Amino acid sequence: MSAIVSAFVLTSCLASPPAKQIDAASGRVRADSLAEARRVSLALEELEPKLLALLPDTHLDHIEVWIQDEPRLYSFPQSSVIDAEGLWAESHGRILLARSADSLERTLAHELTHAALGDSWRMLPGSLEEGLCDRVSAELCPEGAARLRAGRLSSAALACGGLRMQLDVRRKPAALGEAAAMGWSASIVLSGEETPDDSHLNVFRVAAGLSSTRLERGAKRAYYGLSFLLIDLIVARDGFEGLQELCARAEREGLGGVPRSWLLDASGLDPNALSWREAASRSLGERELIELLRMYPDFAVDAVVGYLEDVDLPGSPADWIGDVRARLTLTEGGASVDILAVDFLRDAIEARLAEPASAE
Ligand SMILES: [Zn+2]
Repeated sequence: MSAIVSAFVLTSCLASPPAKQIDAASGRVRADSLAEARRVSLALEELEPKLLALLPDTHLDHIEVWIQDEPRLYSFPQSSVIDAEGLWAESHGRILLARSADSLERTLAHELTHAALGDSWRMLPGSLEEGLCDRVSAELCPEGAARLRAGRLSSAALACGGLRMQLDVRRKPAALGEAAAMGWSASIVLSGEETPDDSHLNVFRVAAGLSSTRLERGAKRAYYGLSFLLIDLIVARDGFEGLQELCARAEREGLGGVPRSWLLDASGLDPNALSWREAASRSLGERELIELLRMYPDFAVDAVVGYLEDVDLPGSPADWIGDVRARLTLTEGGASVDILAVDFLRDAIEARLAEPASAE
């Protein structure tokens, strides 16, 4: 009798399913409206064959995908992987997605990767499965890839001491004249709350995605970023096949997981935080740097506006803004962009310069 009672209690703890459902070959999608269920169902049908073709040792049984306000299962936390916007509940064969996710398709691709991984992938230690799922979702959803890469790679750099940049403001040569001497440079270190528990190397030990692992948001972001960086470097050199071969080899040799030294060798990183930070910086291309500025525009806008207000050029900003260049460069390698050539930044800077000076 007692077994029946406890089964009843567990069932009653589960979140109730959303009202509408669509059945597709890959699985059942439940959502609050048919339109929402259809959109996710189409994404599921499109993603599944691409995922299975991309990644070795993957298969998908019939799964359910629920769209919720917050991804919630309320049961068996030890068998769930919780990301900010999605959750894979292996015990229930169910993916839960947050309706408000930055990109539903990309979050679905990430959770679907968790769901599809065969046994050999269990050899990836610590948080590395998260980097793999992110790297796959970047491949399957290229339109959101630059934003994802910018977020993860900057988190990795922040976890290893901050992202170093230089800002150079100049008048363009054609405008040389009385103000020809105008020029200014500033060093900027972007830092944040991305702090791994004690060392970046804990990415090989801490399972940041598991619901049983309690982490501050900043630490969790740090591990996702470090994991993405490592996996991205390995996949760039040896492909997903090369990464899976490390797992298969560890399995053949009867190891508990892929040794840290193999992963460092395959990625070209060394144990020092500096090598991780420089690699993260180098991996940020121009598109990623622009996405980073979209996420954190204030430091760049504030710096340029502060300088231009200080030099107090004659006339209105419209008279001279076209002659100003504000180049932001990642000093440890990577991209460089002219801030004033990026529409949303130029608009923000012009709007700030047009504000009346605040009263003393
Ligand atoms: Zn995940």
